[in-house]
Amino acid sequence: MATMRVVQVSRPSGPFEIVERPIPEPGAGAVRIKVEACGICHSDSITKEGLFPGIQYPRVPGHEVAGVIDAVGPGVPGWEPGQRVGVGWNGGYCGYCDHCRRGAFFACVRGQTTGVTYDSGYGEYMIAPASAVAQMPADLPPVEAAPLMCAGLTTFNALRHSGARPGDVVAVLGLGGLGHLGVQYAANMGFHTVGIARGQDKEPLAHQLGASVYIDSEAQDPAAELLKLGGAQVILATAPSGEAMSAVQGGVAVNGTLLIVGAVESMQVSPLALLMGCRSVKGWYSGTSIDAQDTLAFSVRTGVRPMNETYPLERVSEGYDHMMNGKARFRVVLTIGH
Ligand SMILES: [Zn+2]
Ligand SMILES: [Zn+2]
Repeated sequence: MATMRVVQVSRPSGPFEIVERPIPEPGAGAVRIKVEACGICHSDSITKEGLFPGIQYPRVPGHEVAGVIDAVGPGVPGWEPGQRVGVGWNGGYCGYCDHCRRGAFFACVRGQTTGVTYDSGYGEYMIAPASAVAQMPADLPPVEAAPLMCAGLTTFNALRHSGARPGDVVAVLGLGGLGHLGVQYAANMGFHTVGIARGQDKEPLAHQLGASVYIDSEAQDPAAELLKLGGAQVILATAPSGEAMSAVQGGVAVNGTLLIVGAVESMQVSPLALLMGCRSVKGWYSGTSIDAQDTLAFSVRTGVRPMNETYPLERVSEGYDHMMNGKARFRVVLTIGH
């Protein structure tokens, strides 16, 4: 029987183990993907450290998958072997629950989460429900595509649904794994783009990514600086700090939105500022497979790319630690040879 190498976690906070498993066959409604690259995202810690209840181990993590379909199960219209595809955090949806019937596929009550509820991209092959699969443009290398399936998708999809219009001031808080993509998308969507981060040394990077204004939150009050520009219609909050999010909210314009995509435990909100200016604080989920497909297509057309550090599958532990320590510049991607 043909086998494949995968990286599994056998228990919460257990080590990564490289093991051989039989190559699985896709069941009804699913495809098999030969994985070429898989990003290591901070949310992989949910599987690695057992942060969600009910995860069944052993589990193969990963939700920034880029690869090629190499087998198709029964009852899968529209997909065939040889197609280049990606899989992100949304691991598929049923299509018939009340949320799905209202078009809110991300909230599907039978929804799956890639690399959490089923084995995913830290390995040579994976099985994915067809509803989780996004078509990938031919001229996008797998290593560059992989981080777009979560970090790219999240920032792109949040911004395009943010209500901001071309020319509006849009600030991106944080210039890390999410933020370095968020600034590129904001600039390419035609927003007056502001990058906010700590330290003067990030200014050249912010401009290189497309920001026309940079605010050093250590030297300046970011809220006051945004108000000088008339306030931000949208602040996309990517920084992993509730304190930093609380500190910028005074810079939101009238009728504007503080849009949260960074998973922090808590932050302070001023109800008075919200009601006086009809301002909102809102969260945004990542996106579904069609949103990922749109993200990839937009990225190819506009030249938005992640900045990556790559590790071969054998060095997964090193890559994961590097990302968790906040040292990655800016995304970590596993390359998977065959
Ligand atoms: Zn992710
Ligand atoms: Zn559903």
